[in-house]
Amino acid sequence: MKSPREPGLERRAKLVRCLGSLREMLPGSFVERRRACGRPNCHCADGKTLHSQYRISVPIDGKPEAVHIPAALADEVREKIEMRRRFDAAAATIRGINLKRLLKEKEGRQT
Ligand SMILES: [Zn+2]
Repeated sequence: MKSPREPGLERRAKLVRCLGSLREMLPGSFVERRRACGRPNCHCADGKTLHSQYRISVPIDGKPEAVHIPAALADEVREKIEMRRRFDAAAATIRGINLKRLLKEKEGRQT
């Protein structure tokens, strides 16, 4: 018997391969806050060109913590947190494919 081609399996294999590229993912959510520092001579005193502060809100030892992120690392950290979203989406799709296969296999046995 020739087994039919399963597009779900191809999709799953592709997703699994892509998970490795997301290995630098970070937990938490990225928060950017813009504020004036209060010094009257600073460029931020015009109320428009404010200072940016970056934080991630992340559970550490089960407790939510706000971790300050230096500006030089902000883009990198933001990207790594975005990786987790893509990882979770890929994992959800893989689970969906596996569930579909289980239901199909079950159906095939109910005769
Ligand atoms: Zn300022």
